[in-house]
Parts: sequence; structure tokens; C-alpha cells
Amino acid sequence: MKVQKSDETYVRFDRNKIIKTCMSAGADLNLSKRIAKEVAGEGYEGISTAEIRMSVYKKLKKLDVEVAERYVYRSNMRVRTSCDILDSFDNERIVSSLVQETGVNRSFANSIAKEVEKELGRMRLNYVTAPLIREIVNVKLLEHGMESVRARYTRLGMPVYDVKTLLENGHPHMPRFSPEAVHKIMSDQIAREYSMLAILPFDLADAHMSAQIYIHDLQYFALKPTTFSHDLKFFLKRGLKVDGTGDFAAVSGPAKRPVSAFMHAIKVLIAGQTEISREQYLEDFNYIMAPYVTNLPYEKVRQLAQMVAYEISQTAIGAGGQAIYANLVMDTSLPKHLRDTPAIQPGGKVIKSVKYGEYEDEAQSLFEAFCEVFSTGDFIGKPFVYPRMIVNRVSQRDSEPMELAAAVTERFGTPIYLNGGRSFYGIRRGTIQHVTLNLPQLSCIKKRDVMELLDNRMKKAFEVLLLKRKVINKNLSADLVPFLKQKAQGVRYFNPSNQLFVISYTGLEDLVRAELGLGLETKEGMRYGMKLVKLMEKMANGFANDSGLDVILTGDPKGISHTKFAINDVKRYGDLAPCRGGENPYYSKGHCVSLKKLSDKLDIEGKFNCAVSGRTSTRIRLSSKRSDPEKIPKMIADILDRKDVRYLSMSRGLSVCRKCGAPHMVESIICPNCRSRNVAIWAKDTGHLQDIRIWRPSRRQAFADALRYGTDGMGKHLNFKAKKAIMRC
Ligand SMILES: [Zn+2]
Repeated sequence: MKVQKSDETYVRFDRNKIIKTCMSAGADLNLSKRIAKEVAGEGYEGISTAEIRMSVYKKLKKLDVEVAERYVYRSNMRVRTSCDILDSFDNERIVSSLVQETGVNRSFANSIAKEVEKELGRMRLNYVTAPLIREIVNVKLLEHGMESVRARYTRLGMPVYDVKTLLENGHPHMPRFSPEAVHKIMSDQIAREYSMLAILPFDLADAHMSAQIYIHDLQYFALKPTTFSHDLKFFLKRGLKVDGTGDFAAVSGPAKRPVSAFMHAIKVLIAGQTEISREQYLEDFNYIMAPYVTNLPYEKVRQLAQMVAYEISQTAIGAGGQAIYANLVMDTSLPKHLRDTPAIQPGGKVIKSVKYGEYEDEAQSLFEAFCEVFSTGDFIGKPFVYPRMIVNRVSQRDSEPMELAAAVTERFGTPIYLNGGRSFYGIRRGTIQHVTLNLPQLSCIKKRDVMELLDNRMKKAFEVLLLKRKVINKNLSADLVPFLKQKAQGVRYFNPSNQLFVISYTGLEDLVRAELGLGLETKEGMRYGMKLVKLMEKMANGFANDSGLDVILTGDPKGISHTKFAINDVKRYGDLAPCRGGENPYYSKGHCVSLKKLSDKLDIEGKFNCAVSGRTSTRIRLSSKRSDPEKIPKMIADILDRKDVRYLSMSRGLSVCRKCGAPHMVESIICPNCRSRNVAIWAKDTGHLQDIRIWRPSRRQAFADALRYGTDGMGKHLNFKAKKAIMRC
């Protein structure tokens, strides 16, 4: 006999089900068997479950009213499961899920399930959801003192109110309000909670929450490595499978035409974004692409550069509502590491004797074209934020391309300079995970030795890195990252053992001041600061030797850890926290110092740049006063001539009028074009230009307080009015 269920599907009639439900309502075994037998006798082909229930109820009622009422309540209670299916309540589900998900034994799970059923019965609900049942199970687990079992059994997610608010008002720190941006915030929340609850052990999660360390990109901790430098040659030679396997998307052969080659480069970044959480790099971009622009007139080359800039910038409308963090590394002349490399030519051809050195002119032409595009900006004259240009100054003699790049700095402050012609990461290499230490907090914890605390924090950071390595290896073997996992001639595109594991620190100067009352510009301050940095460097080296991982230390704390740390420490330690910014607290970044004379600043920071194994950027905010255009290239060249500057980020704030759209090279709150006061200020903080409206007050305060350096090498503070405008906008 078949029974029709409420969802119109059929199942075989099962007498045991009736027996079980009658018994769980309180009937004894004999009675339950009798009723099941009677119902079976009266049934017919295609009878509905509702009819069966009614029949059982009527029979029970004649025998025991109380049991009958309990039966009808239980059999009517519907559970909305996570698969969006309505189902009748069955406490066996609780038992089996508890056993499977948490590993407790069956008899304990059984007793919990019974308690939950009792609780539900007491509440007399006629509609419950699976999450609600799960929460009641969790309460029961806590009542039994099973805290760690609960952590495994709980759900992740957001309160209804938070989702509603997000949908209606967006998020204050979201760059753009769009369905995809909203969706990303929702999914980030679950992924972040999962990392904290299920991957990181309690003490490491706690170290992050209490701002001892900052684990960057926690929302992707369970999913992706942080940064990666692509190998375009891999795809130009063999063609492109954007899904990594060729099973789901069209497969391209090796690019033959210029447009296809540049489009492939863009597609590599788009594919990469799905498996890498932050920055992606295309190294030696102008040289690798040079063979594709041979015999093209400059105008065509410029159009290709323009296409790359627009295509990448406009990916901001895609999934997640974020532009790709794409970096084009452009060499000012042929770097050493490319000298003997055979060039990949259109169609993926390789002739061993034809090296990249033979494409000098094409590479220069591409360099010029990109500089022109980046200094012009978009249709309304706004700068391109992404892709970002990284200028690799190969030789001191490359003055001509350096002047072109300086023009972009002069106008928008967007390019970053890499010193000395080395490769950025080296291809197919990047950072798997980045953890930043909060140095100033060490001075808040009295009665503990700073060095001992530092030792402890370094170890915690390293534990996080080890965990992340495990995660990435697991994801690779589970085929979670097919693009990175693709192989050619037996070689995997992404090799986890080639990647970097980064520890950075922030607020060195603030810690030194708190401990000694002296800054890093003094002899004692410098000696103490150096002692701390050397200890960290030594430990990082030790970690590397012990684990075989490439663990490096840098003074470059990515992201917003310097403000998050300060805000936390003020809450927790009050006046003991040695922060700046008053009401809007922040710490200094890395080993940065704020000194009037630029050369003094560079001297001090340079010593630390050289003391750590990882590359650290030198950050300089340019004054918005217009200067003699010839002075900027000289200033850049002078700074890069120093051996202790390895990576230079110069920036300037600019205003973009919200009314007429015009960008202006000053941080001004009145549009010089249309006099509108509706002006957005754009500035760099974490490496790329952003509308500072989405910054928290502490970040804005740090930006407002920073010294602006002129081409004369002297730093000036903004005046009171300008600072106020920044805080208000
Ligand atoms: Zn305007």
C-alpha cells in the first residue's frame, strides 16, 4: 500500500511509524501495535498521511484522551528544515545529527533529544524551524556543561534585524551599496565566524579578539591565500582555462592577437580573484606583453592600455561588489631575471634564441602608454584606483621612463615604486597569510616583561600561520581551488611550499615612547626599538628554519590594524594605551616616524627596513601645493637612490566634486570648479585611493594628522580648518 505525503509524493505504508509516534505520545507498545494494525486494515491505495493521522487520533481518543491530544499535537508539528522542506518532528534526527556532528555517544544524544522534545511539547508550538530546535539543543548542551560540544553544534549567521538594516541602509564602511556588496557582507560574516569558531583554537581566536594580534582577511581564512603573483607566460603559452579544468567555461587557445592577449591577462586576474583574497600581481607586465604589440602604432598600444585600465576598474560591479586588486608591475628597463628568458610570442610560440631583451622598444612603448592612461584618468578625469601601477626602477639611469611615471605621481599620487629591478615576489609566489602584532599594547600590561610578551605574541602569530598552511593544503587536496591547482606538464600552477608567511608589527615608535619616554630619533630610542625588531626577526628566522616555511618579518602592517588595535586598547587599558589622535585613537604604522625633515624620517625608517627580511614600504604623503613639475621626478629619484628604500608609496589626497564630477589635486572641501561644498576627499591609507567617507574616524584622524611633505623635503601639518573638514566630510 502506498501513502501520499503532503508534498504529493508517495511512500510505502510503514506500520512501525505509527507504532513509534503512538508510543512517543505515551501509549504503550500493545496499544500502539493494535492501532497500527487497525489503521493498516482500513487503509487503501493512495491514502494521505493526513487521513492516517486522523484515523489514529480517533482511535486513540476512544482509549485515552490525553494521549490522543499529545499525539495530534506532535504529529501536526511541522519542522522547516534547512532544505526548505516541511517535515514532521522526529527526535531521531536530533540524535543522529548530534552523534555525527559532535561525536557524543548515542545514549547521551538520546537523553538530550528527549529533553528537547519535552521542551518543545511544553511550548506547544505548531510550527518550528530546524534552527530553533538546534538552539534548544544548544541550551540543553550548556545545561549539561558541554560547552565545546555546543561550539561544534551551533549555527553561524546573522540576526534578522541586522540583515534588514543592511538591506535598507547598507553598511557604513561599505564602498558601494549594491546587492552584491550586501551579499558579500552577509557571507563574510559566516565565513569569519566559522574561522573563529571552527578553525582557530580558543586562545588564538581570543588573541585576535583582544587585539594582541590581527589576523588579516579572516573571512577568507578557511578559503584562500592572501596575495599572488601570476605567471602570464603559463597562459600565453598554453591558452587559458578560467575555471582551471575546462569543464565549466569555454577554453581559449594561446592568444594570437594583441586584444586577445591583453584580455587573457585580465581574465587571469578575474579567475584569480575567486581563489585569492587580496592583491594580485602581473610582474614585468610591459615586457611579457611586448611581443604582442610589435609593429603596432603607438595609438593602438595606448588603446590596449586603456582597455586594461577600464576593464579591470569596471569589475567593481561584479560578484562581491569589489574591483580586482590588480597590480601591473612595469619595468623601466629590462630586468636581470628576464635577460635569458625566451619570449612567448603570439600563438604561444617560443623560439629559444628570441629573448625578452629583443622587445625593448615595445616594452618602452607599453610603459609610456600606461603612464599616459594613468595620468589622464577616466572619462571624467578621475584616477584609476585599480589596476594599480607598480613602477619597477631597474636602473638609476632609467630617467626617461621615471619622468613619465613621476607625472602620474604628480597628478594622482597613485603609482608605487619598487627599487632595484628585483622581481616583486617572483612569479607564482605570494603571501598565504599575514598576521600583525600590536606592539604598543605590550606597554599596557604592567608587571610583565616586554620581551617576554613579545616572544609569546610571535609564537601565537606563527601558530596562526601554521594553521593556515594546513587549511590551504586541505583545500588543494579537496579541489576547492581548481584555478590555482591546474597543472601543465606535471607542474602545478600554485605550489604551496613556494609561498610566503608574513608577520608584521605596528606602533613601534609608540611602544618605545611609552617605555622610555623617548622617540626613535634618539640614540636610546633607536637602540631599544632595534632590540625589539631584531628579536622578532630572529624569531621569524627560527620559525622558518624549524618549519621549512618561508616566514618573513616586515614593518608593513597591511589593512587597518593600527586603528583597530588603538581603539581596543583605549577601551581596555584607558590612559595606559600610548595612542595618538585623542578621541579617535590610532597607532603609528610599522616603524614609521613622523619627523619634519624627510631625510631624518628616511634615515630612521631605513635602518629598520634593512633589519627585517620582508619588504617594507616607505610612505610619504605629498603636500597638495602645486610644485614645479620638474621637482617631483628629482625627489623620487633622490629617494630611490637610497639603498634603504626598497618600496616607495607616495600619495596625495585629492578631492572629487560630487556635483560636477571634477577631480582636484588638493584636499579641499569646496569645488574650485563649481563652488559646490559637496566634495569627496580621496586618499590612500591601505595602498589604494578611497573615498575617506567610508573610513572610521580613527583612520581619518590619522590621515588628518599626518605630515605632508613638499619637494623641498620639509613636512607640514594641515591647518586646523583643513583637519576639521577631513573629520567632518
Ligand atoms: Zn564641482
